[in-house]
Amino acid sequence: MTDDATYDLVVIGGGINGCGIARDAVGRGLKVLLAERSDLAIGTSSASTKLIHGGLRYLEHYEFALVRESLKEREVLLSMAPHIAWPLRFVLPHHGGLRPAWLIRLGLFLYDHLGGREILPGCRTLNLRKDVTGGPLRKSFSKAFEYSDCWVDDARLVVLNAVDAARRGADVRTRTAVTNAKREEGAWTVDLEDQSSGARSSVRAKAVVNAAGPWVADVLARRLGINSKASVRLVKGSHIVIRQKFEHDRAYIFQNADNRIIFAIPYEQDFTLIGTTDVDYQDDPGAVEISADEIEYLCAAASEYFDEPVQTEDVVWTYSGVRPLYDDGASAAQKATRDFVLDLNGGGDQPALLNVFGGKITTYRHLAEEVLAKLKPSLPMMGEPWTRGATLPGGDFAVLRFDDLLAKTKSAYGFLSDATVERLCHAYGTQAAGMLGEARSLDDLGRHFGADLYEREIEYLMREEWAVEADDILWRRSKLGLRLTEEERKGLAAWLSAKQDTTAPARHAI
Ligand SMILES: Cc1cc2nc3c(=O)[nH]c(=O)nc-3n(C[C@H](O)[C@H](O)[C@H](O)COP(=O)(O)OP(=O)(O)OC[C@H]3O[C@@H](n4cnc5c(N)ncnc54)[C@H](O)[C@@H]3O)c2cc1C
Repeated sequence: MTDDATYDLVVIGGGINGCGIARDAVGRGLKVLLAERSDLAIGTSSASTKLIHGGLRYLEHYEFALVRESLKEREVLLSMAPHIAWPLRFVLPHHGGLRPAWLIRLGLFLYDHLGGREILPGCRTLNLRKDVTGGPLRKSFSKAFEYSDCWVDDARLVVLNAVDAARRGADVRTRTAVTNAKREEGAWTVDLEDQSSGARSSVRAKAVVNAAGPWVADVLARRLGINSKASVRLVKGSHIVIRQKFEHDRAYIFQNADNRIIFAIPYEQDFTLIGTTDVDYQDDPGAVEISADEIEYLCAAASEYFDEPVQTEDVVWTYSGVRPLYDDGASAAQKATRDFVLDLNGGGDQPALLNVFGGKITTYRHLAEEVLAKLKPSLPMMGEPWTRGATLPGGDFAVLRFDDLLAKTKSAYGFLSDATVERLCHAYGTQAAGMLGEARSLDDLGRHFGADLYEREIEYLMREEWAVEADDILWRRSKLGLRLTEEERKGLAAWLSAKQDTTAPARHAI
């Protein structure tokens, strides 16, 4: 079947890059279709360390342009989504046997000044014998450096970009794979397959963006039938989650003897996130998982610093992702460039194809602008850049005024616990009230599925955010998977599949 619709742009991939590009493009007046073969953010974009950061260690690899661009984006993203992103202070204990203090000071000086800061405070030195952050660490650490970066809920950042794109008119299709695309009669014909029903259809497009992350080369070769010199280097990174290891709100960055660094970050109120690893990877990116060696590596690296060691039995959850890095021929995985490369194919007489290699969560907005600049000759009707400063759904309140939103929501929904109000305000920002509606008691929220998850929220996620399966809700729209028992998770899955049979397709109107 051929959809009669002709699009200006078809975007392949519903990760941060695909969703960011679709949002930017539709906001410039283009007719856009985004196809994600599974759930939004199912790939690398839900498996990151969740930092909006310049990447202190990339300075050692002389990636100054990347660090500068990333540092500049920190405050831009903070003001676009102050509910899902917030400033985070990092404590870097000085380790006598590793990088000298002068080198760290120099790095932090550059970090403070390369990208400009208005909101984020600069670096300072800490006496770990006096500062609360010294408490959980081995007593041999007496001095540390503290600097600013930001935290973001990566999977929600993806979803909110998709929601905003859809509200602006983009055709966002999840569980829809691009199975084939070819140039014919001056445009692309793109074949789509609905992964739930198996139904096939085709659409026409003036240009295509391949933002398939770790699958970018696979899509290029197998779906688009194009040979390209650009290649992708897949590098696996894994994280472990343990119960809260420390009570203060700052994160640690630990240097390891192998020259790498790992983070230990306050996570989901009651947990600590530790990662990551850097391992070259050749297998199916969809099947990536942590190895026993990686768990041991992360536990051992953290135990070098924490007074009370991190044991493998402390691990309550793990996740792994594959970095789709541009292959620049670097010897070690940790040295491969983290910068993105945009590979334009066609564009003159031929309909354009733009392949996205690499990138970071941090630079997705800027990447989208660059993608559209490259496509401008093929799509000259597009408008000007607009996303800098344009808030994402729920983010329309002032940076650093989250407490006001909390107080307002608490007073409107006094029957909810403080922890629930905080979770909902972080997830939905100013739209939390829209989700909760007229509810005046827990009974008004419908069936209870465990922890603080109720039918009202699930229905909102199905209606507004393309949630279909239990994992979409438990591990991407939220991290409630950490709190529901196995039995409760099964209950949710059963309820959802019964519901799918009886409901119409999701609606994404304002
Ligand atoms: C361990 C780790 C830690 C990281 N930490 C950070 C960090 O702290 N900060 C930071 O800024 N960056 C970080 N990154 C980098 C960042 O996560 C990635 O660069 C980013 O998520 C890549 O997004 P993407 O959209 O390109 O790919 P993905 O998120 O993988 O999206 C690609 C999508 O394409 C879809 N797809 C594939 N084939 C098809 C098809 N045929 N049809 C339709 N859809 C298809 C897939 O299902 C997938 O959803 C980290 C990465 C890793 C692995």
